[in-house]
Formats: sequence, structure tokens, C-alpha cells
Amino acid sequence: MRVLDTVDAMAEACRSAQRPLGLVPTMGYLHQGHLALVRRARGENAALAVSIFVNPTQFGPGEDLPTYPRDMDRDLALLKKEGADLVFAPSVGEMYPQGMNTWVEVQGLSQRLEGEYRPGHFRGVATVVAKLLNIVRPDRAYFGQKDGQQTAVVKRLVKDLNMGVDVVVVPTVREADGLAMSSRNVHLSEEERRAASVLYHALRGAKRLWEGGQHDGEMLRGAVRRVLEKEPLVGKIDYVSVADLATLEELDTATIPAMVSVAAWLGKTRLIDNVVLGADS
Ligand code: AMP
Repeated sequence: MRVLDTVDAMAEACRSAQRPLGLVPTMGYLHQGHLALVRRARGENAALAVSIFVNPTQFGPGEDLPTYPRDMDRDLALLKKEGADLVFAPSVGEMYPQGMNTWVEVQGLSQRLEGEYRPGHFRGVATVVAKLLNIVRPDRAYFGQKDGQQTAVVKRLVKDLNMGVDVVVVPTVREADGLAMSSRNVHLSEEERRAASVLYHALRGAKRLWEGGQHDGEMLRGAVRRVLEKEPLVGKIDYVSVADLATLEELDTATIPAMVSVAAWLGKTRLIDNVVLGADS
């Protein structure tokens, strides 16, 4: 496994990598959710590249960039075990050198849901993903359904800019009690951690209602909200959404493919989760 920290060295290594080449972009502090992407990519490609980069441009002022968890040594040991060929771990200065002044904005999609609460977030995501895809030039890039809106943004970006990469979406990996694995879960207190599975239970409840024939968007949103509100440790609920999977427009009637998603606070930690209607994740 080679670990590269400059754009030129990574691009060069990728040019001589076997094909097909898969890329898994991450912000590190790897858990089983990331490893599901890594394993899927390992199985489907002759060569595997993983990036580890905590991308500052996708964090807003006052967000958790300074406290975002990091453990490069552990991440590299895990990736070595999983059989990664190339790891790209650039510095912030390497990705955003002085004078860098081009930004990628996926309009519409980026303003909804997370975009309303994290303005600029998807501009940062789209820009760094475009840069990583241009550096690595993979045949396939792997993203988690856990960040459902991100997958919609990336698919749009790749299509609109004719990047010719297959975007593969991997189902959400969960803890035994249903909590979606996330690097941010380490910030939860013991009590908050116990309460956090309510997000998944609320979403599962909506999915069951939908499977039972309740397709009214407003009723489904209301059902999710009521379950969340019963948990005293859930603070502010930023949104509950039943939206078209590709456009993220809110649906009056939930037809497939649709995504039920939530963002809610447990103490100082903001969690997001989603389920797809008519699919397994
Ligand atoms: P992050 O390091 O949080 O930026 O995540 C890197 C990639 O892993 C993204 O495509 C995420 O959607 C994906 N990912 C994170 N958590 C999970 C999870 N619990 N299940 C599946 N994919 C995940």
C-alpha cells in the first residue's frame, strides 16, 4: 500500500494503477461504514484508492471542523488490512493552494435539506469531490447512502460535468440498535448514544407505514416527527423530509424512489439519517 500526500504523486500513481480503479473518498476516522465502501470497491476493481482528507470547505463557521475526530495511524492500518493499493492523504494547503479559486456548485439540490442548515456545505463537497475525481480519474467512486443528499449531489455533478465515473451507492451500515455508524457518534455521551437509535426507529416506522399503504408525504413526516419528539434527549429537529431521491423535492405523495430523511440534535451533536422507500437501505 502506498500513501501519497501530493496531488502530482497521487495522479502519477493512479495513471499507472491497474484498471478498473475504484476510489473511496473519506474524511478518515474509519469505521465499519467506511469499510463497507472499501470492501465493495476492493471486490469490484483491480486497484483500490482511498482518500483521507478532512475537507475544511464543507464545514461552516462554528461547525465541528476543529473537533472532527482524526486517527491517521489507525486508518492506515485498517486500509492496509483491507488491501487498499493507494491512499491519498493530502494537507489542506495541497488541496487548496494559494490562488485556488474555482468552485463547483450543484444548484437546487445543494440548497435543500442539509443545504438549508449548512449553507455552503455542498459547494465544499462538490468542489473536493470534483478535485479528487480529477486527480484519481477512477472508473468507479463509492459513496454511502448514509449521506443520502451527498449521493444525489455527486451523481448530478458527475453527470452535469461529464466526468464519466460510475457513482456506486452503498447501503448504510448500522450499529446493532440501528444507529447509523458515523465518525461523529464518538461525541455522544453514554445517555445520548442510547437515545440516538430513535432516529432509525422513527425512520423505520415511516417505512413500515409506507409499506402498509400510507403514501401521504405529510402523514409520513408527521409520524417520524412524533417518534422523535417522544425522546427527551432529542433537541432541535432541523428537518423531517419525504423527498424524491434524485431531485430531493418534497413529495405530497411518496412514490418510489423516495427518501425519508431527518436531521436532529442530541446535545451538541447533530445527527442525520435516512431510509429509502422501496429499497433495502
Ligand atoms: P465521511 O468520512 O463521513 O465523509 O464518509 C465517507 C464516505 O463513507 C461517505 O460516502 C459516507 O456516506 C460513507 N459512510 C459514512 N458512514 C457510513 C455508514 N454508516 N454506512 C455507509 N456509508 C457510510
